[in-house]
Formats: sequence, C-alpha cells, structure tokens
Amino acid sequence: MTYTSLIVGGGIAGTLSAIALRKAGIEPVVYEAYEHGADNVGAFLTLAVNALAALRTLGVDVGEIGFETPRMTLTSGSGRKLGELRYGEPLPDGTVSRTVKRADLYRLLREHAVRQGVRIEYGRRLVDAHGGGGGVLARFADGGTAEGDLLIGADGLWSRTRKIIDPAAPGVRYSGLLNTGGYARGVRTGAEPGVMSAIFGRHCFFVHLTHPSGEVWWAANPARKAEPTRAELDAIDPQEWRAHLVELFRRDAGPAADLVAASDEIFPAWKTYDVPSVPRWHRDRMIVIGDAAHATAPSIGQGAAMAIEDTVVLAKCLRDSPGVTTAFTAYERLRRERVERVVDQGNRTGGWKGLGPLARIPRDLVMAAGMRFMARRGADPSRWIYDYRIDWDEPVTGLFRSA
Ligand SMILES: Cc1cc2nc3c(=O)[nH]c(=O)nc-3n(C[C@H](O)[C@H](O)[C@H](O)COP(=O)(O)OP(=O)(O)OC[C@H]3O[C@@H](n4cnc5c(N)ncnc54)[C@H](O)[C@@H]3O)c2cc1C
Repeated sequence: MTYTSLIVGGGIAGTLSAIALRKAGIEPVVYEAYEHGADNVGAFLTLAVNALAALRTLGVDVGEIGFETPRMTLTSGSGRKLGELRYGEPLPDGTVSRTVKRADLYRLLREHAVRQGVRIEYGRRLVDAHGGGGGVLARFADGGTAEGDLLIGADGLWSRTRKIIDPAAPGVRYSGLLNTGGYARGVRTGAEPGVMSAIFGRHCFFVHLTHPSGEVWWAANPARKAEPTRAELDAIDPQEWRAHLVELFRRDAGPAADLVAASDEIFPAWKTYDVPSVPRWHRDRMIVIGDAAHATAPSIGQGAAMAIEDTVVLAKCLRDSPGVTTAFTAYERLRRERVERVVDQGNRTGGWKGLGPLARIPRDLVMAAGMRFMARRGADPSRWIYDYRIDWDEPVTGLFRSA
C-alpha cells in the first residue's frame, strides 16, 4: 500500500521516521516547529549498541561523529569502586556503543534524510489535527494546513499530538533532578578514553567520559526536590551555578570538582522529566512515537534508542499491513511491553541518583554487592535492553487484526 505521511517533529524520531518510511515506499513530509531544528537542545548522548543496530537497518552510519563508549564504571563519592559493566555486547563486526554530541547527530540525520529526498518544513508548529476514514488534516500555528493518509507525532516530551489523540493523556512527570554538563580541557581524570565513569557522589550524581582528543565531556544531576520554574532556572547566574556545582562535588573523590572548574562554559540547568505510561498511542490514523509516546528518564540512556527502534518497527508495520489502523495496532503490540519496561527501569535508576546521605549508604552497598554477584555469574540484567535487534527484511505477519 502506498501512503503519504505527515510527520510532526524533526528531532531524532521524526527525521529517522522519514528515512524509514522512504525505505518502506511511503512518502513522508516532516513538519518541525522551530526554524532550524532543535540542534542545541541538550549536550551529548550515548547511542547504545541496540540503537546503532537499528540505525544500520536504515543505512545510517554514525561512525564519523563522537567516540566509542564500550564500558562504564560506577564508583561512590568516597572513591569506592561499585562495579564495571559493558555498554552492551559489541555488534558482530566489533562496533561498540558510541557517545555523540546531540547537535552532530541531528545534523547527520537531517543530511541523510535530505539526501534521500525527504522534505522538511521548518517553522511549522502543529496545533490541531483531525483524522478519519480517508486521511488526516493537520493545522499549523502559521495558519497553514496539510493533508496525508496518516500522521506520525514525533513531537517529543511535550507532544501536542499525544493530547490530540487523547485529551486525557498524561503530561510530563518531574523527576526531582536537574541536568547540566560541560566540556573540560586540561584535566587528567585517570580514566581510559571512551569509558563512561559514573560517580554516585555524596550530594550529586556525576558522569564523565574522555574524548580521544583529551577533552572531557561531563554531565551532572543536582537534586532539586521541588520543581523550579523556568524563570527561576533562567535567573541563576552562571558564576553562581559553577560555584554551586564545585561545592556539591568538593568532598567527593574523583575529578568532578576539577572538571566543573576547568570548563569554559557550563550548560544552564534544565529539568528532567519522564512521561508515565500513555494509554493511547493511536487513534484515527494518528500515532505517537519516541518521547511523545514513552519518554524515559535520561538515567537509563535509552530514550533516543527507543525512538530509533520505534521508527524502524513502525515503517515495517506500515510496509506489510493491509491498512493504517492494522499497522498501528501491530506496531503497538510489538513495542509497548519493551518501551514500558525501559521507562520503568529508567525511573528506578533515576531514583538512585537523588538519594540523601542516609539512603546513600545502603544504596552503595546494595549496588556493589549486586555488581559482584553479576560479575561472578557473568550475568548482566540489562542484556535484554542491548541485545534487541530488528530484521528489516523479515515480514511482519500474524499480528494484523482490525481495531
Ligand atoms: C539529559 C538527557 C540525556 C539523555 N541521554 C540519552 C542517552 O545517553 N541515550 C539515549 O538513547 N537517550 C538519551 N536521552 C533521551 C533522548 O534525548 C530522547 O529520548 C530523544 O531525543 C527523543 O527523540 P524524539 O525525536 O522523540 O524527541 P525530540 O528529540 O525532543 O524531538 C522532538 C521534535 O519535535 C519538535 N516539536 C515539538 N512540538 C512540535 C509541534 N507542535 N509541531 C512541530 N514540531 C514540534 C521539537 O522542536 C523537536 O525538534 C537523554 C535525554 C536527556 C534530557
């Protein structure tokens, strides 16, 4: 069946969805709210091996950006080693997980999409949409409209499409943690290049990775129980913010305080959210994918990976299904259990980061004991996340039933 698809959002899920649909023989147009895409949103992220495998099915190679991140180590604020984990098993050709600047990833995906002939319209913010038997009509803030056979809402955490599909859909949930980070030069961390070093500090979670050039990329999650307003965050003076972070890490073992001090610029604080289970993913030829359907806490490092996997599975369902609704139903059956398990795990991992001084001690003991147990057994309870693979050529069959 040949369709035309409206894709709302030109982030990771939207741009890749366009690439995946083209591969499936469906004609997409991407509508992005901002003038130049969301290039500067966030700093860096790690694409785990499951994300890299899904990107490969679409012919997208990210090997020219970022650097390899094969392992992570966990230590406590006192410097005690809690454990070491692989960031998933390498792909058969040895490819390991990769840390990339978000802006580089967006640029690479967009260039790939444009090379495939995908049309991306900027400054087009979806405000409303109506779907029915024959297609979907979308309305944009600029007064314009667009029509298609289906609409894919890849419009992120604050998704408008989620609310159009189900006005009672849950909104975002604040995690009690802020995010910040930076790039430091001239500090020797003692860590091997590429290895992700996570420190469960006395007052704050910190993670750092050394780029092969010697530059150190870091991120931190200061706890802030009561949700601050955007205006309160904007009002934080950059020098005060730096001093506050240095103070948070002053008593911790490891390089956190030095890295904060050695960074030219520190990202202004932003808030961490997830979205509790969204009961309704699709209605009347409209569907949500990526963060719009299942935003997971950043702590698990899988939000972008889930969005990437979504795009491949949805394109396959649309390629093989006799109709749009049957494709959406099959897609949900293939994806819901996995992404909700990831969201749940992300939520629990995030909870470990913001613990106070008393809860921190049992957490570190439990974590160290768990890691020792896993090392002895050679077991990794996260394998189900990393080992997921999608075979593009395998037809989606047996899942189609009318909804
Ligand atoms: C601090 C932090 C660290 C993270 N680290 C990792 C990591 O290491 N690994 C990992 O896999 N994931 C990570 N994630 C998660 C990952 O960034 C997200 O899951 C991913 O970006 C989701 O992609 P998306 O395309 O669904 O949404 P987005 O990338 O947010 O894209 C949504 C797009 O839709 C546009 N849009 C919004 N509303 C409209 C509208 N009404 N009309 C038109 N366009 C609209 C937006 O402008 C945006 O371009 C992290 C997240 C955070 C916050």
